[in-house]
Amino acid sequence: MPEPLSAIAEPRPDSDKRPGPTRPIRKMDFKMAYEPSKRGPATSSVHGGELRQQEANAITTPIYQTSTFWFQNSQEVIDYQEGKTDREEYGRYGNPTWRAVERKLSELERGEESILFASGMCAATTTFLAMLPSGSHMIVTSDCYRRTRQFIDEYLSRMGVEVSIIEPSNLDAFEAAIKKNTVLFFTESPTNPYLRVTDVTAFSELARAHNVKLIMDSTFATPVNHRTIEEGADLVIHSATKYLAGHNDLLAGTVTGSREAIEPIRKALGVLGGIIDSHGAWLLLRGLKTLSIRMERHNANGNAMSRFLEEHPKIRRVWYPGLESHPDHAIAKRSMSGYGGVVTFEIDTNLEGAIRFIDSTRIPYQAPSLGGVESLIELPVTMSFWDYSPEQRQAWGITDSLVRLACGIESEEDLIGDIDQALKSV
Ligand SMILES: *Cc1c(COP(=O)(O)O)cnc(C)c1O
Repeated sequence: MPEPLSAIAEPRPDSDKRPGPTRPIRKMDFKMAYEPSKRGPATSSVHGGELRQQEANAITTPIYQTSTFWFQNSQEVIDYQEGKTDREEYGRYGNPTWRAVERKLSELERGEESILFASGMCAATTTFLAMLPSGSHMIVTSDCYRRTRQFIDEYLSRMGVEVSIIEPSNLDAFEAAIKKNTVLFFTESPTNPYLRVTDVTAFSELARAHNVKLIMDSTFATPVNHRTIEEGADLVIHSATKYLAGHNDLLAGTVTGSREAIEPIRKALGVLGGIIDSHGAWLLLRGLKTLSIRMERHNANGNAMSRFLEEHPKIRRVWYPGLESHPDHAIAKRSMSGYGGVVTFEIDTNLEGAIRFIDSTRIPYQAPSLGGVESLIELPVTMSFWDYSPEQRQAWGITDSLVRLACGIESEEDLIGDIDQALKSV
């Protein structure tokens, strides 16, 4: 396996001699741009993890469409088994296309290593299975992703794993829930659908003091908006299906962290087998190249939409971490560089009025998911909570006129104009 970071850390020997307009770039700045830990998120999105030297001088990483990798002779097999060579072996354990994505993501997240999975759920379930021995205890927040909760309740419980559920962002509740056998704390930030933001620094200090691993599902934040590992998270999980891939065209999951923390999860993936195919990995690699620039537009649209809605007479309440009225605005402002494209709001109407509104929108597709270039909209009550009783919905805080709008990267005026016209039908 070539050493990728040093490969891209070296400027090309002839790069100073290339023709073209000369810009006054100081030598110092020029060197810094090649050092992965010092470059900006847009440079990391494009160049992170890519090998400068590809087969046939190609610019882009190929799709390695192969299920296995051959050895020239038995000595190569033996050298590989003894750890003397670093290379690929069989498709369930690695593929050079995935490696490029893993390196790009590690650079964006500022973590040592990353792993890809077939979906975000696969990333979470494989991580839990790798980290939780039977009889251990974990802590999660009450609004964590429904299927994650289901995995804990229906599957981890069979292995005798105990769980405590606390309110999001409640540090005192976290401390009170820690027991002798607590292994990990899992939370999302921002959460769905109320976009609560976790003070990662405070939680990670408390977790470390009790030898508990802090795992952040950073799907709604992305490494562009929130660098949770730098703030102290041990592992960061993404449903890469959302912003990382960004085009509503594939499912994938990722986990990033220290080499030591990642190792057992990589082993578990090799056994459980929830791997991404190399074409999907390549689409993710391609999507990631525009992550930083897409996030600029998602952030701008989310921000403008939340402010428009907050002023609208037919809106009861808006939840967006960038709004001064959001309960976690101060934490978000301190730790995040943007607040994303998802805006949650409650219309001053009943279920019928909310349905009239959502069915009148023209630009967003009515669909689950978020983070893609196309705006998506849903009523959580019909999309995710239809089979729940009114009491259960109330406990989750899901009202009949609650809307989740995941702003894509369309023009701000068009999106706001569409929501404005649809609100007339409430
Ligand atoms: C979508 C989502 C998941 C699940 O990811 P899949 O890629 O759909 O398996 C997990 N967590 C969050 C916060 C999500 O939005």
